[in-house]
Amino acid sequence: MVTIASKSNTEPADLIALKGHLPLIGLTGGIGSGKTTVSDLLKGLGAGIIDTDLIAHQITAPGGIAIPLIEKEFGQDYLEPSGALNRAKMRALVFAQPEARKRLEQITHPLIRQETIKEALKSAKSGAPYLVFVVPLLIESTSWQGLLDHIAVVDCPEETQIDRVMQRNKLSRAEVLQILGAQAKRQDRIAQADTVLHNHGDLEALSAEVHDLHQKIVGITKV
Ligand code: ATP
Repeated sequence: MVTIASKSNTEPADLIALKGHLPLIGLTGGIGSGKTTVSDLLKGLGAGIIDTDLIAHQITAPGGIAIPLIEKEFGQDYLEPSGALNRAKMRALVFAQPEARKRLEQITHPLIRQETIKEALKSAKSGAPYLVFVVPLLIESTSWQGLLDHIAVVDCPEETQIDRVMQRNKLSRAEVLQILGAQAKRQDRIAQADTVLHNHGDLEALSAEVHDLHQKIVGITKV
């Protein structure tokens, strides 16, 4: 069984130390599938939520812990006047140059991992009955294998994803398709799911599926 890949010796031990103490759930899905909507519903049911996408944003916000390292590696041009990462400029760079993506990830991934561990330990200590790690590229990554007790995938038709993301992020269809092309295929994601949450209906229908998932997880006594 593969443990969490990390450059630091201390990191895997910290997350793995939680295994067996409370259920550890991975929540994933393609862009705009509804991960945040689902994690908000689970949070309302008492789950401890660790959103790695939110952490990635926080570390690259003004004053974020990744900012000095990004400035050193890519230059001030890649920062906004506010001191935040210039996301549009960085997105363009990493799409054009795969090695730039690697350099960026060498900075961000260990920091995201570090903050993920901190938040997970905090949630576990505060008495959350289970932890949900929201990881957009969970299926694409090997880092989570061996840690999670249950993988939940939020799924909806690709056309729904495209519509939602175009509307929410004010992106063109071509830009959304480019992002989708870099993510796992819908069927590959579903193939790895313990639970599929179908999000092609209204929020009420999704909420009913989330309640069922919650019941299933709290029923996991031996993990
Ligand atoms: P990302 O991958 O970009 O982080 P996500 O998977 O977290 O996205 P959400 O942010 O939860 O997806 O949802 C994408 C958009 O679609 C949001 O604007 C959300 O309000 C909307 N949305 C999600 N589910 C539904 C639904 N069942 N009905 C209507 N709108 C929805």
